[in-house]
Amino acid sequence: MKKVFNIGDFRLCQEGVCNANMDGRDIVCVMPTGGGKSLTYQLPALLTPGCTLVISPLISLMTDQILHLRESGVEAVMLTGGTPRPLLNEIQQRLTSMASSRAHGHQGRDIKLCYVTPEKIAKSKTFMSLLRKLVEGGKLARIVIDEAHCASQMGHDFRPDYKKLSILRQFFPHVPILALSATCPPRVLQDILKILKMKPVIDGKAAPPDGTVYFSAPLYRKNLHYIVLPKPSSAKELIVTMSDYIMQNHRNDSGIIYCLTRKDAESVAESIQAVSNDRIKTGVYHANVEDEQKERLHMQWREGKVQVVCATIAFGLGIDKGNVRFVLHHTVLLAISQKSLDGYYQESGRAGRDGQDADCVLYYRPQDATRQASITCSDQDGMVKLHDILRFAQDMQECRKILFARYFSESSDLSMASWTTNESDAMDRCGHCDNCTRLPANVEHKDATVETWQILKILEAVEGSGGRLTISGLSDLARGLGGGSFETGGGGKRRNAKEKIQIDYDSVAGGKVRLSKDDMESLIVQMLVLRYLEEVFSSTAYTVNVYVAPGNQALRLTRFARE
Ligand code: ADP
Ligand code: ZN
Repeated sequence: MKKVFNIGDFRLCQEGVCNANMDGRDIVCVMPTGGGKSLTYQLPALLTPGCTLVISPLISLMTDQILHLRESGVEAVMLTGGTPRPLLNEIQQRLTSMASSRAHGHQGRDIKLCYVTPEKIAKSKTFMSLLRKLVEGGKLARIVIDEAHCASQMGHDFRPDYKKLSILRQFFPHVPILALSATCPPRVLQDILKILKMKPVIDGKAAPPDGTVYFSAPLYRKNLHYIVLPKPSSAKELIVTMSDYIMQNHRNDSGIIYCLTRKDAESVAESIQAVSNDRIKTGVYHANVEDEQKERLHMQWREGKVQVVCATIAFGLGIDKGNVRFVLHHTVLLAISQKSLDGYYQESGRAGRDGQDADCVLYYRPQDATRQASITCSDQDGMVKLHDILRFAQDMQECRKILFARYFSESSDLSMASWTTNESDAMDRCGHCDNCTRLPANVEHKDATVETWQILKILEAVEGSGGRLTISGLSDLARGLGGGSFETGGGGKRRNAKEKIQIDYDSVAGGKVRLSKDDMESLIVQMLVLRYLEEVFSSTAYTVNVYVAPGNQALRLTRFARE
């Protein structure tokens, strides 16, 4: 470890993973980005005969790894769809002769690590038959599946080719599998195990001899300071706010601003540089940027010539820059569009990989969640996840670390006791997030019991006469806008029977609700999050996987609220 990787001590659960790996076990290892997942297979690869196969979705990341490995004198190769024919032939030739060579001791030119993209497994018959030869010759030491969450549709980065990796276990039942990920909530974990045909992880007991061993390093990184800031309503104001934030807190630091769309990324980049009078140099990264330009940007960013990269989530995996001091999220919709907090955790986690302090800022306004047009979302499960995100964004009291910990362990039926690293302190407050450091004097508390009751009563009356309201509809009606009337019917066969009904505020709810528009929408979102309200899934809004974002869905009272 010292000689080849120049690493003195193991970190997090590295040692345990290496040992289990050397023991030929199936393993799932969840470790935060930057935690040091590579060592957990690179070191065993050097210590065991044969070749370690590594499946990874990103060519840039693989290229990087291979350069490092070769510099340290390790025989590592990469095969992708783009590998030129002569090189492909050469590598295949080397693997073939490895497979048929009987010599175990002579490993001079043996390929120790072979990196491939998942489509090599999913689509190349030649490669699969080559693997078979290796296995038959006893030369395939292990299979490593990097970014294993990509196999699950419940994860935030599903890749179809990953799903086909199931054939590995099917064809090579005795080759141990190591699945690696940085974010993997229990339900995704279970899904991955199923897809890769690995044995389940057994709750709370030492893994049986043939069971999958589960490792997880604490997801909490104490150098990251999470903060949710109110997002100004106008785009222009937001730019000024962000620019001021950077000038005041990170004048000379590198950072990332994640934006929802390519257009947003471009306009944010341009405006921030303009508003700051070119003091903040920005660059743009999204799927449509030319490869050459992407590489140039990476370089300029690494060298500090570009200070802030304004990007879509396409900018991610493969960023190997330690000193990212801040990651800003332009809108909560980013997390919502990925349907989970995992994505947010992952993106914000690109900050502070060097272990130094870094800030993760989410700009949030409830309207962002309630005003947007349709986004894709395939099931009711998606709805639950949306609420997870809103709950995180709206919470002004609970420690961010605890909110994440709860999210990542929610619905868990795995206590992960035996082989896992210490998670016992997961429920202590971090002491340095916005909710931990907010001075009580700065928090304005409003008792909204009466308003909540009024809103429920008004919605109840609307429901009672067959009306349907969205978040903004309910907000407007409760505040007495639009003449205080609502429509019944609409939708389905009753479309023709629309009728305007005037609400009698005094008798229904003791008057109109006196709240500002912002407070009102924030309160309604909170009522959703706390399960007083729920959204009605109308079949029309729910076809072809297009689901309308919260707020465009009709609301109704929950049983909980009625009780
Ligand atoms: P991950 O794949 O989990 O995001 P990497 O394997 O790329 O992380 O490792 C991140 C960085 O940490 C690398 O620069 C690596 O050399 C370094 N690293 C890994 N393990 C250790 C260790 N035990 N001690 C010190 N540095 C380490
Ligand atoms: Zn905290």
